Amino acid sequence: MIKEIKYKNYKVKIRKMGLKQAQLENAYGLYIPNKSSIYIQNNLNPKNYIAVLLHELAHFVLDKTEKKPNSEESFAVMVEEFAKIFLQNPKLINFIKQCTKQNETG
Ligand SMILES: [Zn+2]
Repeated sequence: MIKEIKYKNYKVKIRKMGLKQAQLENAYGLYIPNKSSIYIQNNLNPKNYIAVLLHELAHFVLDKTEKKPNSEESFAVMVEEFAKIFLQNPKLINFIKQCTKQNETG
């Protein structure tokens, strides 16, 4: 499991949240800026876990970038910023690979 993701000089912790909390928030994942944390519901299957993780990471990048997307062009800029996450966190790629494998066999 990945515990922390770096972006520029920021870090976000990846934490778990219980099913009750997830139902209360009506979300599988949450990004809480003032806690520098992403919460992901327990016991998601690997494919859903990755989808939720990437979604919350997009919130994190949006929060920490000055160039907020308001057009297709600036959205492309944001995606480039997002790509930096993979460069700065090589473990994340391995983690996604592992999850995808698990998903294929199970
Ligand atoms: Zn969202």
